[in-house]
Amino acid sequence: MRVGICGGGIGGLSAAIGLVSLGFDVEVFEQAPLLRATGAGLNLWPNAGRALYGLGLRQPYDAISVKLDRYLGYDPHGELLFKKDASDWPTKYGAPSVGVYRLALSTMLAEAYGLEKIKFGYAVTSVEDRGDSAVCHFANGETYEGDLVIGADGIHSVIREQLIGGVKFRPNDHHAFRFRSVIDIDKVDVDPAAQTGIYTTGGWLAVIPIGNGKAYWFGSVRGAANVDEFIAYFSSWTHTHVPTTIGTTPRDSIVASPLFDVDGTPYKWTHGRVTLLGDAAHPMMPDLAQGASQTLIDALALRDAFAKTKDIDQALLDYESLRRPAANYIVKRSQQGSFLGRNNVDPIAIRYEKEVEAQLA
Ligand SMILES: Cc1cc2nc3c(=O)[nH]c(=O)nc-3n(C[C@H](O)[C@H](O)[C@H](O)COP(=O)(O)OP(=O)(O)OC[C@H]3O[C@@H](n4cnc5c(N)ncnc54)[C@H](O)[C@@H]3O)c2cc1C
Repeated sequence: MRVGICGGGIGGLSAAIGLVSLGFDVEVFEQAPLLRATGAGLNLWPNAGRALYGLGLRQPYDAISVKLDRYLGYDPHGELLFKKDASDWPTKYGAPSVGVYRLALSTMLAEAYGLEKIKFGYAVTSVEDRGDSAVCHFANGETYEGDLVIGADGIHSVIREQLIGGVKFRPNDHHAFRFRSVIDIDKVDVDPAAQTGIYTTGGWLAVIPIGNGKAYWFGSVRGAANVDEFIAYFSSWTHTHVPTTIGTTPRDSIVASPLFDVDGTPYKWTHGRVTLLGDAAHPMMPDLAQGASQTLIDALALRDAFAKTKDIDQALLDYESLRRPAANYIVKRSQQGSFLGRNNVDPIAIRYEKEVEAQLA
């Protein structure tokens, strides 16, 4: 079976790994000229770990990730707001919560699939369903025809827009940007086995270890439209690690990612011989930090669906029936906001147990 995957991110590469393991002939088309991931990290939860283990990646994943034993939250005076122990999650949930460097994860996935096989410089512009095959058209003038095409082209998916639609984006009126960077962990005074966050109703910043002596920090400030406004907000937080953390960060390494509220979900993922996976299928706010986890779960579910039947239509139906309702539930939960922010929900680690793992119970 010939499968073309548009998008060589976390979703495209993990889906490729799963389908290659079934003996399928898989090609990955990525618009970027090379493998890259903006200077950033990820918090991946036990459900992401279980999916990666299921895809046969336990050893490399454990090697590149840092287990988080605790989630700690303080106010700007240094007073403890919450402490959530996560050290028993591997026993309880089958994998740890971890911090990981995005580029290390992408490299791990690319190497497991075969970095040299990825077709870089292929931006898909449109896809056609031809009943028993599907064709991709690329901006470089080339085309590809396969038995199946997977749209793993991210949150602003061209394939979703062309075939299905149903999703609209609005600038987030609470926090318009998420700011983030990677620094040396020995420059910051934080617990090296914890996510440490400082929170107020107007802004927050958290740090996690991501391995190789590095830490990833990420945060948002209400109304901050640029790095200067973001940094200024923390100048009085002298009882916390934040001024030092920001002070030690090279200014040009700070990435400002615009945040969008997402209205609507695709009413279907599969259109004939084309299906969606990852952010293309379930665009969501990062407030539950579940986007990559849900994406990896999609990849495992797609592999499992094809392991059960070689009937393509049946496998796609099984994949979508299992994953679309489960992912849409997480999309809705991700719209609830963040700790001390909009709706003042519980800290993320508490929500993970109560809302994400509980969904599976
Ligand atoms: C600020 C921020 C913080 C986040 N933090 C977390 C976190 O801590 N934990 C977590 O689980 N998730 C987090 N996420 C979400 C996570 O990054 C995504 O859910 C995940 O990357 C989705 O993987 P994907 O492969 O579907 O999409 P992507 O990773 O976006 O990959 C899509 C790929 O498709 C390529 N592409 C796009 N268009 C085309 C085209 N036309 N043709 C060919 N290729 C194309 C892109 O170049 C890219 O390589 C965060 C997101 C944001 C914005």
